[in-house]
Parts: sequence; structure tokens; C-alpha cells
Amino acid sequence: MSIFKPLDLNSGSDTKTKEVEHVRCLIIGSGPAGYTAAIYAARANLKPVLYTGLEMGGQLTTTTEVENYPGYPDGITGPVMMEDFQKQAERFGTEVRFGTAVASDFSGEKRRVIFEENKVIEADVVIIATGATAKYLGIEAEKRYSGMGVSACATCDGFFYRGKDVAVVGGGDTAAEEATYLAGLCNKVYLVVRRDLLRASKAMQTRVFNTTNIEILWEHQAVDLYGENGVEGATLVKKKGTPEEETVKLKIEGFFLAIGHTPNSDIFKKYLETDEVGYIKTKPGTSKTNVPGVFAAGDVQDHIYRQAVTAAGSGCIAAMDAERYLSESKK
Ligand code: FAD
Ligand code: NAP
Repeated sequence: MSIFKPLDLNSGSDTKTKEVEHVRCLIIGSGPAGYTAAIYAARANLKPVLYTGLEMGGQLTTTTEVENYPGYPDGITGPVMMEDFQKQAERFGTEVRFGTAVASDFSGEKRRVIFEENKVIEADVVIIATGATAKYLGIEAEKRYSGMGVSACATCDGFFYRGKDVAVVGGGDTAAEEATYLAGLCNKVYLVVRRDLLRASKAMQTRVFNTTNIEILWEHQAVDLYGENGVEGATLVKKKGTPEEETVKLKIEGFFLAIGHTPNSDIFKKYLETDEVGYIKTKPGTSKTNVPGVFAAGDVQDHIYRQAVTAAGSGCIAAMDAERYLSESKK
């Protein structure tokens, strides 16, 4: 049962009186990590309250087929899979609420998260599962061909491009890794690099250079995509802004972005340790952050794997860590 009490929360310049509700377990995010944490927390009687954020169901609601999540032998669409996650979490008593966290206060013994309209949740434990967002170039064609040839996840979508020609944009470790992965499935992989060098580690560069069906297009920038019912090619500009500038048409069927991700951790950074990109740091092998009682799960703390199944697994870990924390601190 939730307890309401009025409180004058002096967070920075904000001195408005806010409504405070106390909950045992607060989960922020409705992707695979958040819902899995909710299933485990609810079954452990932690009475979780889960806030969905704007993207109810998380990143998978933006994709069509998910073929690599165990338990679905014929595959399943992302939105249907996430509805199943939600139903399973609710079946055990998770209270799912639509709302977005806008600030946090983990000072002292407090674990408070502020939601829009001045709602403050004070929780015994908080599980952060706010995910990470892939960066896009910002060209209009990315939206036009979303789900029709444009992807930001080679491991997720590469299978659909077996035997075809594709392009990967980026020059970092992710791009090198995705290009090498796709080279094992596709006929040809063009790595579109905006500079004349790769940012990727030497080891990853060597793998790229030694893969015969990867061709690096140095100093190229993608500016548009074309095709009737899906991507049939990309328009690139070589040596943009120089006297040798040249437009190149590249025939490809898949266009993969690998220019980085942004973890959704901004509102927690004042209290939680993150790496230089913003991924929340957790104690290895656990979901524990530097603040006792605050746990992180899924893509917001994972810059390497970023898969639905790994996010779900870490959601389970977070709920179990939270449950143990509560029993040890006898809250
Ligand atoms: P997310 O799914 O990103 O969910 C984050 C949640 O946090 C969202 O509900 C969001 O609304 C919420 N949120 C964010 N900020 C706030 C806030 N301030 N307040 C409240 N809530 C907030 N993986 C696979 O394994 N197989 C696939 O086939 C596959 N396909 C993919 C296709 C696409 C197009 C994309 C983009 C990703 C794909 N992935 C796939 C990767 C997979 O979706 C992610 O690894 C997984 O969703 C991460 O789960 P998560 O729970 O950590 O975060
Ligand atoms: P990253 O290191 O930030 O690299 C992003 C790449 O995308 C850079 O080459 C950048 O070009 C390019 N880029 C950015 N914006 C672009 C744009 N608008 N147009 C064209 N190109 C653009 O990101 P990441 O590769 O995702 O790696 C993130 C972190 O995870 C890194 O620390 C990385 O080492 C790590 N990681 C490690 C592994 C591994 O060890 N196996 C795998 C994946 C990631 P510029 O170089 O010109 O800036």
C-alpha cells in the first residue's frame, strides 16, 4: 500500500511543495530489463511500481521481427513480445504507470525520484532500467526507411540481409564489430567512414582489414537513401567540403548505423558513477551502483552486449540484488 505525505523538497532552485509517495520497489523503464525486474520483484513480494517512460515497451517496440529471443521458435514481433512481458509483470502484481522520471535525489539515505507534475516517489529500492538510445545521422531518409532497410543493430537485423550488400556507418569499435559480424552473413559490407582513419581499437581495425568482403569507403558521408519499397541504395558524398568533393551512389539493401549510443542516465548522473559516455557503472557481476539501494539493469549499464536477452537477465539480477539488500537491511 502506498503512503502519501506532503513534503517541501528543496532540490536546487525548486522549492515547490511536491506530493510524495512511498513505495517499496520503484522500477524505471518498461523494456526487457524493467519488466523482468518487475516479474522477479513482484514474485518476491516487493510490490513493484514500474514507470514506463515515453517509449512504453522500450526499444523493441520500434522493430518488427525478433528472432533471437529464446522461447519463441517462430520469432515474434517486438511490440507483441513486450505486451507479453507487461502482462507477465502485471500478473504477479506489478503496478505499471505511464510517466517519465525527470530528476533524482539519492543524497544521504534518501532514494527519491521525481516524475512530471511534481510527483515524488520515495523508494526503499530503485531499479533503473532506462535503456540507451542509438544515435542516428539525423537525415530524413532514416525515418522514411525505418524498418525497411535502416537498422542500428546488426546482431538484431543482420540475419535479414544474408547474401546481400550492406553499408555500416561509423569508424569506432561498434562499427568495426558490426561490419565484421555482417561480413559473415552478407555478400559485401561497405564501411562508410567520415574521416581518413578509424577510431576503433587496433585489434578491431586488424579484423576489419583482414576481412576480404569489407570495403572501407574513407572520407565518405551518407546524405540520403533511395529505393521504391525499401532501401536500394545510399547517396554518399566523398571528401565533403573540399575541391575534390564527389557524389557517389552505392547500391545496398541494408543501411546500418554504428555511430554510438546515448545511455538514458542524465537525470541520475549527479549521484551515480558513470563511464565517460554515460553508462551507469555497476559492481562487476551485480547490478549494484555506488549508491546503496539503487540498482541498474539493461542497456543503461551495458555498452557491450545491448541485447533483449542480456537486458532481461540483468533485470533479474537487479531484482534479486534489491531483494537481498532489503532483507539484509531489514527494511
Ligand atoms: P529499453 O528497451 O531501451 O527500454 C528503456 C525503457 O526506459 C523504455 O521503456 C523507456 O520509455 C524508459 N525510460 C527511458 N528514460 C526514462 C525516464 N526518464 N523515465 C521513465 N522511463 C524512462 N535485441 C535483441 O536481443 N534482439 C533483437 O532482435 C533486437 N532488435 C532491435 C531492433 C531495434 C530497432 C533496436 C533499436 C534494438 C534492438 N534490440 C534487439 C536491442 C534491444 O531492444 C535492447 O537491447 C533492449 O531493448 C534493452 O532493454 P532495456 O530494458 O535495457 O531498455
Ligand atoms: P565511438 O567510439 O564514439 O565511435 C563512433 C564512431 O562513429 C566514430 O568513428 C565517429 O567518427 C563516428 N560518427 C559519429 N557521428 C557520426 C556522424 N554523424 N557521421 C558519421 N560518423 C559518425 O562509439 P562506439 O563505436 O559505439 O564505441 C563506444 C564505446 O564502446 C567505445 O569506448 C568503444 O571502445 C566501446 N566498444 C568496445 C567494443 C569492444 O571492445 N569489442 C565494441 C563496441 C564498443 P569520428 O571518429 O570521426 O568521430
